[in-house]
Amino acid sequence: RASMQPAALPHDGQGGPPVHGVTNTVVGVLGGGQLGKMLCQASSQMGIRIVILDPLPGCPASSVSDEHVVGSFTDGDTVREFAKRCGVLTVEIEHVDAATLERLEKQGVDCEPKASTIMIIQDKYRQKRHFSKCGIPLPDFMEVDTLHSIEEAGEKFGYPLMVKSKRLAYDGRGNAVAKNKEELSSVVASLGGFEHGLYVERWTPFVKELSVIVARSRDSSTVCYPVVETIHKENICHVVEAPAEVPDKIKKLATSVAEKAIKSLEGAGVFAVELFLTEDNQILLNEVAPRPHNSGHHTIESCYTSQYEQHLRAILGLPLGDPSMKAPAAIMYNILGEDEGEAGFYLAHQLIRRVLDIPGASVHWYAKPEMRKQRKMGHITIVGSSKISVKSCLDNLLQSNSSDPK
Ligand code: ATP
Ligand code: MG
Ligand code: MG
Repeated sequence: RASMQPAALPHDGQGGPPVHGVTNTVVGVLGGGQLGKMLCQASSQMGIRIVILDPLPGCPASSVSDEHVVGSFTDGDTVREFAKRCGVLTVEIEHVDAATLERLEKQGVDCEPKASTIMIIQDKYRQKRHFSKCGIPLPDFMEVDTLHSIEEAGEKFGYPLMVKSKRLAYDGRGNAVAKNKEELSSVVASLGGFEHGLYVERWTPFVKELSVIVARSRDSSTVCYPVVETIHKENICHVVEAPAEVPDKIKKLATSVAEKAIKSLEGAGVFAVELFLTEDNQILLNEVAPRPHNSGHHTIESCYTSQYEQHLRAILGLPLGDPSMKAPAAIMYNILGEDEGEAGFYLAHQLIRRVLDIPGASVHWYAKPEMRKQRKMGHITIVGSSKISVKSCLDNLLQSNSSDPK
């Protein structure tokens, strides 16, 4: 009987076996938090094999990845061993061993984005210097390493003064504000002293915080997601509104600043660009994340191609998908731990149960093994026909939460 095989089977182009499904390439991810989990959910849908490296047994991504290697992404030997399993190596957190990634690249390991990008971004002061050299508008900043130099910076930039750790920052941990000269030494002490590396930024009295997710393919073409507004509470992302309610002119400016910033970095993937909109309609860059981002969670339900699927497409050399919104409006709310332990789990559960009654609302629960105050435990996305309707939906949900008898 004649074979049903086509004349030319799709091959991986590298002398390997025929391609089954989207790709044969195994994706390796450094980190297995919620971003890793949502990346695994996208890869699962497309039948892409994905393995994660994370030190925490039972980390959010562990239940949805093809394999979870329990180990540290900051340990060179562990990362090197892990890389042997993967066709392409990527990150869901920037606080990884970038020096090892650089060595692995020299040995031919495919890291996306490139180690050089992770290196620039994981040190926020180095990141600021890089973008400043590239002509990207930013708040004024200055390295500080003694009480004398931070006092000088205070005189130059005025107060309040934003003091930031160069490394290992997330969710505002690593930032502290000095209201006056007298507060400087206690603020420095609260960040662990000068020895871990500090810098300061001029306080930016922004009118809004915006974010743009930019995806870049392996051949360096880019697509940008609609500009969103991020609302922070005590330095932690609280709510994301998509699209941002700003004039078209501002959307264009924000998108062009974001695209220019990403074009100055190497490698494929999605990147988030956090921006400040000032009263005089300037756009200043706050920071860049070399990975999917909290401000792009809404894309799972609201865009044709989610940021997670887009990241996989980009690093695997597949065509980029359509980043545009398929709904008029979306709002995302982070479920932060309100209490430690069971009391916190109970409060979150109460909220989630009510979300299930709302049409257009989706719950994402990261299933972190431990509940802590202010920790990102999950999120809610509400998609709807207008900004007003999704906002009022969220307001109702949160109001009924606080009036709930405990
Ligand atoms: P992330 O979780 O986004 O990585 P992070 O710990 O790196 O956060 P930043 O993004 O540096 O922290 O700052 C957190 C928030 O603090 C910002 O989103 C903004 O609301 C505020 N902020 C940061 N820098 C400044 C500044 N120079 N002036 C005023 N507010 C600022
Ligand atoms: Mg950051
Ligand atoms: Mg930030």
